[in-house]
Amino acid sequence: MISSYHRFSELTWVDLTLWAGKKIVSDGRECFQRKEVRELSLTKTGGILAWIDAEELFATRVEYEEGELYSECTCHPIENTCIHSIAVIIEFIVHLKKKIDIPPAKSNDRRFFLL
Ligand SMILES: [Zn+2]
Repeated sequence: MISSYHRFSELTWVDLTLWAGKKIVSDGRECFQRKEVRELSLTKTGGILAWIDAEELFATRVEYEEGELYSECTCHPIENTCIHSIAVIIEFIVHLKKKIDIPPAKSNDRRFFLL
């Protein structure tokens, strides 16, 4: 769990762009700037779970699986990831930098059932 936590905190714009592509990263950054990320929580496996309050409500989860970034979202992206997961990663890094606590997700969190 700790290692995953550190991995997220060390992600750079270049890493995110290599993972998601320029367009998704820039749209994800805008999603973050519009403050659409809600109720950031940590999963037991060291991932991040959040709601995205956009034109509709989406549940998003970002994890490291076998050393690779992996995301799931109820927007069902056609690509391997979506703008929401980028926004969630940025929000997470901002929380770490500002030393804002991120609570663990409860095992019955509705987002787990949606994803
Ligand atoms: Zn999404």
